[in-house]
Amino acid sequence: MIPFNKPFATEKELIYIKSVLDMGKISGNGMYTKLCQTFFEENWKFQKTLLTTSCTDALEMCAILLDIKPDDEIIMPSYTFVSTALAFIRQGAIVVFADSRSDHPGIDENKIEELITSKTKALVPVHYAGVSCDMSKIMNIAQKHNLFVVEDAAQAIDNYYINSDGSFSPLGGIGQLGTFSFHETKNIQSGEGGLIAINDEQFSKRAEIIWEKGTNRAEFYRGEINKYGWVDIGSSFLQSEILAAFLFAQLEQKDKIKSKRLRIWNKYYDGLSELQEKSFIKLPKIPNYSTNNGHMFYIVCRTLDERSGLIEYLKKNNIMSVFHYQSLHNSDFYKAKHDGRVLKFSDQYSELLLRLPLFYELTMDMVELVIRGVESFFYHN
Ligand SMILES: *Cc1c(COP(=O)(O)O)cnc(C)c1O
Repeated sequence: MIPFNKPFATEKELIYIKSVLDMGKISGNGMYTKLCQTFFEENWKFQKTLLTTSCTDALEMCAILLDIKPDDEIIMPSYTFVSTALAFIRQGAIVVFADSRSDHPGIDENKIEELITSKTKALVPVHYAGVSCDMSKIMNIAQKHNLFVVEDAAQAIDNYYINSDGSFSPLGGIGQLGTFSFHETKNIQSGEGGLIAINDEQFSKRAEIIWEKGTNRAEFYRGEINKYGWVDIGSSFLQSEILAAFLFAQLEQKDKIKSKRLRIWNKYYDGLSELQEKSFIKLPKIPNYSTNNGHMFYIVCRTLDERSGLIEYLKKNNIMSVFHYQSLHNSDFYKAKHDGRVLKFSDQYSELLLRLPLFYELTMDMVELVIRGVESFFYHN
């Protein structure tokens, strides 16, 4: 059986976790938390980062930091994970869902501006499959209308927007705030885990307070104040040192992990190109302003029946493939609150997109088997 995902561990996780136990500081904000945060700040030049228990939590921190209030409007794609919307809904906000691009599941940058009203507070682009949204377009719109930008970079670790002058901007570091996930399905993982990147000075101090249950304990530990207490709202958003130690081992291997994932991605792309040329399927498109971090390989089928048939066929051949998001504007929770607009491409990706196995330990022979499986479904079935 070729699974869809298999979480990978390097040889260092257990060694680092053992050292956490030996040091006897197991709660959050210890040595490994600092090592992970420094790693992000040095490698990707994020101004300030804080490890959280999940990307969902990091998004909740963003909604608190932006002071989102009931009736504020937040624009984001409908084709995304629940958490992107949930964080803002919990503050009482109204989520205004935008459609996907025709050529990519990410938000259609050209459909954002028509959704902006006097109540709009923030834009939340999601870098689907790790692939960058058109960030210069999005940042221009935000500036023009005085909106905040929160990048949901859950899938986009070590991936970049390519500026018109050819320079690279790390995803998650372009908006005022960015969030990452270390869920076991992501490129770099610790089972569950996340990180918030704070790219705008005005949020730095408060972020630390919200992170530490509304107290100024972080400042106290740095010796900047001589007593700490309750100063704001917040929650226990910190990650345990055990998870931070696990995560640090993964971060140290990020290049090795990414290059293997890209080899798999490229083999899928080449191997399935003929099916695309014959119009059986569409392959993922990486726009010229984005690099690729090999997070996900998906194909887009022609009909829902064909996708269901392919999933069944692959399963019979011991290959697990899975579809992905269902449009949030049609969800049981939100459909009555949605304003009724039809989001055609979001619905198309909900019905037609299929993800193929992609994980570090997937061998090239297994990739070949998956390609043959998809081919034989379309050619002989
Ligand atoms: C995985 C994911 C999340 C949630 O991450 P958790 O760490 O599981 O909370 C949010 N948004 C997107 C786009 C994701 O892919």
